[in-house]
Amino acid sequence: MTPRIGGPTLPQKRELVTAIPGPKSVELMARRRAAVSAGVGGTLPVFAAAAGGGVVVDIDGNSFIDLGAGIAVTNIGNASPHVVQAVQEQVAAFTHTCFTVTPYESYVQVCEELNRLTPGDHEKRSALFNSGAEAIENSIKIARSYTRRQKIVVFEHAYHGRTNLTMSLTAKNMPYKHNFGPFAGDVYRVPMSYPLRDGGRSGLEAAKAAISHIDKECGADTVAAILIEPIQGEGGFIVPADGFLPALLEYARQNGIVFIADEIQTGFARTGAWFACEHEGIVPDLMTTAKGIAGGLPLSAVTGRAEIMDAVHAGGLGGTYGGNPLACVAALAAIRTMEEMNAVSMYKNIEAIMWSRLEAMQRQHPTIAEIRGRGGMIAIEFVKSGSDEPDADRCSKVAKYCHEHGVLILTAGTYNNVIRFLPPASISDALLNDALDVLNQALQATA
Ligand SMILES: *Cc1c(COP(=O)(O)O)cnc(C)c1O
Repeated sequence: MTPRIGGPTLPQKRELVTAIPGPKSVELMARRRAAVSAGVGGTLPVFAAAAGGGVVVDIDGNSFIDLGAGIAVTNIGNASPHVVQAVQEQVAAFTHTCFTVTPYESYVQVCEELNRLTPGDHEKRSALFNSGAEAIENSIKIARSYTRRQKIVVFEHAYHGRTNLTMSLTAKNMPYKHNFGPFAGDVYRVPMSYPLRDGGRSGLEAAKAAISHIDKECGADTVAAILIEPIQGEGGFIVPADGFLPALLEYARQNGIVFIADEIQTGFARTGAWFACEHEGIVPDLMTTAKGIAGGLPLSAVTGRAEIMDAVHAGGLGGTYGGNPLACVAALAAIRTMEEMNAVSMYKNIEAIMWSRLEAMQRQHPTIAEIRGRGGMIAIEFVKSGSDEPDADRCSKVAKYCHEHGVLILTAGTYNNVIRFLPPASISDALLNDALDVLNQALQATA
């Protein structure tokens, strides 16, 4: 098996040569405990040495199948060749000037690309930052500045980051908010469309419920922005019922509210479209992107309607590192790679494989209450037998089994009962099927 698109020439196979974790990882884990804050989380007990195509190789030589892509970041694979070359050339030319001091072309080019690729053919502007949370914070600054209003509407199960404002926008207490208050004010949380758990409400009914909350709690004419993930990420890959997003967008339009789509996890081909908004045919006013944008280098962006983006006073947006030149050339290389490899169709292929395999597993294991998601963003939600009660214990056992057998998978969900799959587009069909075989064994072993 060879990786689908370049990358380091790592054998594309699952192979465990030591116990997990191996001796070198055990030793490093002790150093980690002594040096790194215990507050920093950890999924796998092994340390990475190399990664590419569809595998992550640890320092003991174990090769894991990567169904996480660094949380939806390395969508084109790790150390993707165009990215490597672009960064190597840039790092030797200059590493930093600060765009707001001495600008450079690659920043402008990334903004041009974002304006071209994001939904809608209206005039757009973009601004670049370092992390997803920072992009969200700036989208809120921009929306408030444009509308001269303050209230922000967010949804149940939402995840928007870990800074003070973005924690406030995030729904889940543990682990994201616990003991970290007080939180920012003027944030209003309204019901989400979650077909499995809201009695199967239609998108329109669910939107009505959300809108009624907004009208009653805020008053529409005081709301600066409605902020929503078109498919929720950390919340458990919740896909709202058809019509939910368009109805909310329509309401925002009628009431002068800025509609912000958080596409930080869903963006850049991940859902089998360049952006998840396309599945519902909606054009948001502002969009935040990060994760998949730059092949693993830290970069994020806000892109949107020129009149909104330009409403901020000069100097109101910026930051020392935002749109760092290494990250910008990496983004240009990553976007070029996604177009060359046709990442959108590769993720549609991954969706087709995963969906049919997972449906077969669900027939054997009805405690998989739902398979959902799009493209390379698919999840399964576990419930206890004969009920709709979330089964977090089963979920963590399945994840642990997969990790011990060489498959890197992630969990998610408000109730910690969702396994989410985020493979890189560069994973081979054979590797993906091998990972799904392990998942199938994990389901049998934990039944
Ligand atoms: C990851 C994520 C963020 C936060 O991005 P960071 O780069 O971790 O700050 C925000 N929104 C969504 C939907 C995300 O998945």
